[in-house]
Amino acid sequence: MTARLLIVGPQGSGKGTQGVRVAEAFGVPVVSTGDIFRANIKNGTELGKQVTSILDAGDLVPDELTGEIVRDRLSQPDAAGGFLLDGYPRNAAQVAHLDAFLAESGAALDAVILLDVPREESIERLRLRAEEQGRTDDTPEAIAHRLDIYEQETAPILEAYGERGIVDRIDGVGGLDEVTERIFAALQARGLERAVAV
Ligand code: ADP
Repeated sequence: MTARLLIVGPQGSGKGTQGVRVAEAFGVPVVSTGDIFRANIKNGTELGKQVTSILDAGDLVPDELTGEIVRDRLSQPDAAGGFLLDGYPRNAAQVAHLDAFLAESGAALDAVILLDVPREESIERLRLRAEEQGRTDDTPEAIAHRLDIYEQETAPILEAYGERGIVDRIDGVGGLDEVTERIFAALQARGLERAVAV
C-alpha cells in the first residue's frame, strides 16, 4: 500500500530522526529539502552556490526553486509508492504547489505527523546539535530566525491540513523509541500499515 506522509515540527523537534525511522518502516524514501540543499552545498553544485547564504541566514529558499526540486524528486520511480516529506511544505504557497502536483496523479497526502515540542526544549536540543554536528545554520541568530519562521509561516499550514482531518499531533517529548511508537500507533489508527516490522 502507498503511504504519502509529511512530518512537521519545530527545529529541534527530532523530525529528521523520526522521519527516517517512519520512512524505513513504511518502505518509502525520505524527501528532506534541507538534506537536498545541504548535499548540494557540500558538493559545490550550482544550486548549492545559489542557496548557501540563504541557509546560513536561516531564511527560506524561494518557493519556486524549492517547488521545482521537490517535484523532480517526487517524480522519481522510488517515490511512486509513497514518500515521507520532511521540511516541505513549509508555508501556504508550498502547500498549494504540493497539492497541485499530487493532484496531477490523483494523489494526496495520507497523514501529517505533527511533532509537538515546546520552544525551550527545541532551543536546548539545537544547542546540543550545534555542538555535535556544527551545522552552519545552528548559530543562535539563525536558530531564532528559523523558529520565528516556523511559528509564523509553517505552523499555520497545519490548520489547512487539520481541516482535511489528516493531522496526527504527537507529543515529541520523551525517549526516541517512545516517540516512534506514538507515531506508529497514530498511523495505524488511520489504517496505514507498515511494510516492515521494526
Ligand atoms: P530546520 O528544520 O532545522 O530548519 P531543515 O533541514 O529542514 O532544518 O532546513 C534547513 C534550511 O533549508 C532552512 O532553514 C531553509 O533555508 C532551507 N529549506 C528547507 N526546506 C525548505 C522549504 N520547504 N522551503 C524553503 N527553504 C527550505
